[in-house]
Amino acid sequence: MPPSGPPAALPVPAARCSTARTMPAAGPARRSATPRQAALQRLDAGVYGDCVDCGQPIALERLRVQPAAERCAACQAARERLRRA
Ligand SMILES: [Zn+2]
Repeated sequence: MPPSGPPAALPVPAARCSTARTMPAAGPARRSATPRQAALQRLDAGVYGDCVDCGQPIALERLRVQPAAERCAACQAARERLRRA
């Protein structure tokens, strides 16, 4: 019976598949990105949660309800008012 010692070379886990990070650029311009993609881009840029119009942080409650929101409630309301007019 062999003495108990450190186990011989442990199998090294294979490198994790990284296909998820290699996403092909969907559109020619960033403007064509979906709100969700735009939110992810802002997350990458470190500005996620900031209103794109006034730069103020968007209320957490709002982000919780609408994670892809890119404007604070005030700016969004103003924008929708303009769009309807
Ligand atoms: Zn705003």
